[in-house]
Amino acid sequence: PEAITVQELANRMAEKGADLVKALFKMGMPVTINATIDQDTAELLVTEFGHNIQRVSDADIDLVETEADADETLQPRAPVVTIMGHVDHGKTSLLDALRGTDVVRGEAGGITQHIGAYQVTLKDKSKITFLDTPGHEAFTEMRARGADVTDIVVLVVAADDGLMPQTIEAINHTKAAGVPMIVAINKVDKHEANPQRIRERLLEHNVQVEEMGGETQDVEVSALKKIGLDTLVEKIQLQAELLELRANPDREAEGTVIEAKLDKGRGPVATILVNRGTLRVGDVFVVGAESGKVRALVNDKGMQLKEAGPSVPVEVLGLSGVPMAGDPLQVVESEARAREVAAYRAGVIQQKRTTNTPASLESMFSALK
Ligand code: GDP
Ligand code: MG
Repeated sequence: PEAITVQELANRMAEKGADLVKALFKMGMPVTINATIDQDTAELLVTEFGHNIQRVSDADIDLVETEADADETLQPRAPVVTIMGHVDHGKTSLLDALRGTDVVRGEAGGITQHIGAYQVTLKDKSKITFLDTPGHEAFTEMRARGADVTDIVVLVVAADDGLMPQTIEAINHTKAAGVPMIVAINKVDKHEANPQRIRERLLEHNVQVEEMGGETQDVEVSALKKIGLDTLVEKIQLQAELLELRANPDREAEGTVIEAKLDKGRGPVATILVNRGTLRVGDVFVVGAESGKVRALVNDKGMQLKEAGPSVPVEVLGLSGVPMAGDPLQVVESEARAREVAAYRAGVIQQKRTTNTPASLESMFSALK
């Protein structure tokens, strides 16, 4: 389109229409909010308001500035692990078994809550975060939305079965994401188990495990009989060390929605994985096209927390509505700002659904040019 209305441009810039009308008046163009302006005028206005085209990212326009953290502010954080693999190869069993390796669980007296992710504390006090949302969809959907929360993929392959369609799909997704993979050859307790055949079959898909002269780590496990779990955990830790995962805990929080639902008693609830900063009770935030103020934080052990730092998954209460998995959460300075950004995003999403209008400032610009 060569033209755009003042109101539409205002919406896309997340500015008040009246402010644009004022600016236009100063520029010698007394027009109403419904007036159509040409591309040169639109560009002038955008520059006038100091908008930066760079901050636009696909459907979720980052109206909230996100600057990189200075190196000296970064501190080690726990790895975030996703378990993938073919149906019935033992993903759920392995997640349950790994949950059992937590040394503080039980001690804490809490009751296990399935919130889409959990964190285990190991004997050496280090932690690992596991995503226990249905593997593939969560991984691919979130990646499609630019929310790369996974640091390491554990690929589960049943030793009595072999490489199946979803195994291969998982390998491809992981490679495309550039995320390191550890192969867990499961069900080794079974008589029919043939781990070596799995390693050979993996070669056909360009996954070369250490034993076959490659660099991909593999480990034989039995989720059912709890065999090899310590070794798997060690390999995850080793891989995490190589990745040097770090984040700044001393800043306003940013996170990603792992899952969200409308809870009968508690209202909209979202499980947030904190990416950086520390999320605290009372923080005001925008999450996707929703906003809110943290009323409570509940961890996977059902315990109320006052705060959650990087790599910690936590249920957040106090949202205006239910966001989508993969939506970013950002703490902002005021409730007015949170509502403004949320409303703007809701508008963009609405527009995307109803028309084919480019939804980002960036695409608007390429359309104007
Ligand atoms: P998912 O579909 O990948 O989540 O697989 P599940 O964890 O639901 O496991 C599928 C079936 O395999 C269940 O009946 C499990 O009890 C069984 N299973 C999982 N792990 C093992 C294992 O290590 N050994 C044996 N023998 N059975 C297992
Ligand atoms: Mg399962």
